[in-house]
Amino acid sequence: MRNIYENIEFIKNNINLIKNGSAAVDIVVVTKTFPCQDILEALKCGIKHIGESRMQEALPKFQQLGLSLSGINKHFIGHLQSNKAKKAVENFDLIQSLDSIKLAYDLNRHAKIIGKTQNCLIEVKVSQEITKTGVGLSNVKKFYKQCQMIPNILIKGLMVITPHCNFEDSRFYFKLVYNLFKDIKESFDAVGFDILSMGMSEDYKIAIEEGSNMIRIGSAIFGDRDRENK
Ligand SMILES: *Cc1c(COP(=O)(O)O)cnc(C)c1O
Repeated sequence: MRNIYENIEFIKNNINLIKNGSAAVDIVVVTKTFPCQDILEALKCGIKHIGESRMQEALPKFQQLGLSLSGINKHFIGHLQSNKAKKAVENFDLIQSLDSIKLAYDLNRHAKIIGKTQNCLIEVKVSQEITKTGVGLSNVKKFYKQCQMIPNILIKGLMVITPHCNFEDSRFYFKLVYNLFKDIKESFDAVGFDILSMGMSEDYKIAIEEGSNMIRIGSAIFGDRDRENK
């Protein structure tokens, strides 16, 4: 039997153990593939951030949840195609998966139309797997600089998905991205560049030890989803 409340408390407790009550780590509850009842239950536990990865799944759920989502930050965490940029800007507070300049300009255009500054994270690619999306590690600084010139998007930080690997390899990748995060913060006038989104159900504790301040958790809260949907 799963218990959403207990699972969330367990994760919060782990965060406190690692951080010793210092500096906060935000939990983004990843609700993809899980129904609205589950989301409502997580919200009752005081969750303030939810993450979805597919537009066609997210929007009907948001509509159904209606006012229950007021004050809740909605994160887009999946690969975003340019033809979905408009819907993303209209419906999401933070787009964690910015991975190309073309997408940045598409988001900018739609944000401008509705008078919004769209908050985004740059998705960093740390693995050589050809299927992985994201901006290659060595190109992220240049990409950040280019984005600084785009008026209606604001880069709030970095996001990384580590490849499936053992914990020590994950730690290695988390360290790389943390160093890059610090480097950008120090090298540029990086106003509002404060979010380091790394860590999922399996590796969030290591990610926090390595400096993450935002974790994205699905299965450790809701139970295992169909592997194919991952
Ligand atoms: C699905 C997903 C998560 C959550 O994964 P779990 O292993 O279920 O915690 C986190 N981040 C991204 C980008 C995802 O697609």
